[in-house]
Amino acid sequence: MPVMIERRASRRIQVGSVPVGGGAPITVQSMTTTKTADVDGTLAQIYGLAAAGADIVRVTCNDVDAAKGLAEMVPRSPVPIVADIHFQYRLALAALEAGVHGLRLNPGNIRKEEHIKLVAREAKARGVPIRVGVNAGSLDKDLLAKHGSPTPEALVESALTEVRYLEEVDFTDIKISVKHSNVPMMVEAYRLLAEKVDYPLHLGVTEAGPPPAGLIKSVAGIATLLLEGIGDTIRFSLTADPVEEARAGRQLLEFLGLRERKGLDLIACPSCGRAEVDVIKVAQEAQAALEAENLPIQVAVMGCVVNGPGEAREADIGIAAGRGRGHLFIKGQVVRVVPEEEMVGALLEEARRLVEEGLEARLAAADRGAAEEAEKARLQLVEIRSDPNRAEARKARVEEVARG
Ligand code: SF4
Repeated sequence: MPVMIERRASRRIQVGSVPVGGGAPITVQSMTTTKTADVDGTLAQIYGLAAAGADIVRVTCNDVDAAKGLAEMVPRSPVPIVADIHFQYRLALAALEAGVHGLRLNPGNIRKEEHIKLVAREAKARGVPIRVGVNAGSLDKDLLAKHGSPTPEALVESALTEVRYLEEVDFTDIKISVKHSNVPMMVEAYRLLAEKVDYPLHLGVTEAGPPPAGLIKSVAGIATLLLEGIGDTIRFSLTADPVEEARAGRQLLEFLGLRERKGLDLIACPSCGRAEVDVIKVAQEAQAALEAENLPIQVAVMGCVVNGPGEAREADIGIAAGRGRGHLFIKGQVVRVVPEEEMVGALLEEARRLVEEGLEARLAAADRGAAEEAEKARLQLVEIRSDPNRAEARKARVEEVARG
């Protein structure tokens, strides 16, 4: 039985065709790095992000040419577009005119109440939601002075002040983020916020940096909250090709069981003294071959047939090495044994057939004798390698000595 995560109840908003909050699937966001005025370049990146798993893409709207670019881009985009606005509320109005599906306003740098309210009225007239995007690095100066530093409480206060302005003009199509680059601070800010409002929350660790540290920070913060049921949409802010952000976001949700698997999940044993092959090399080869096919299955690469098929019995399909042979298994059952050098090719072929023909058909087509051959190899390996400390022989000797 999969573990069910009880999600915090939140309101639902609609970002173009994509629902956010209110029990909707958690969505992945990313942001383009091109100049927005370069319509074709930005659209190409948006298509790449959508293919990698982004449900919503944010695009900066930092000048008039960018806003004009949005007008051309929005109707051609495969996913909803959110315009990112800093400092100039007029660019928010321009982005609305361009037809964007959402706005992100930074309360730290659009500070005048009347400007925020004007944007909210125009957004409401078009049914466009607004993300109140608080960021520790650009917190409102007065709040920074009041709290001394961008504490979780300061971030939440900033968000709630902006939300109040929006609610005062009857605007409630809101989602909120309170991002911090410090993971524990970020987690605490979202926990505090989640207790105070029922608007959907957009999770992220800001300025996480390049991978792998950026990935680790993002996963630490975002996964902690998601497992507590907090969060409706996520973004990994990596200093990397944004395709990596989208892919990582999507994978995180799949690994947490929060989105259906769309692509490959390759698991591999860490290898140990029992390994019969170079597991790292075989896993890399298998990953490259299988990723190209984008098959929605879990595949295991295990270093030995002694423990491999058993330990990876939950995987849809896998290979385990032993005595110069590759043992191909489906749901833990060995179905074929091939020469070691052919094991990645055989895995790829069997994975394709498994997706096409289904589990029962492939189990029924198992080679007779494969399971028996694997068992023989397993026993031989156990005999050769299982008792490096000669414990059984020592125990027998201890008994002999004890009994005189
Ligand atoms: S599957 Fe075999 S090689 Fe891999 S970690 Fe387990 S015992 Fe070691």
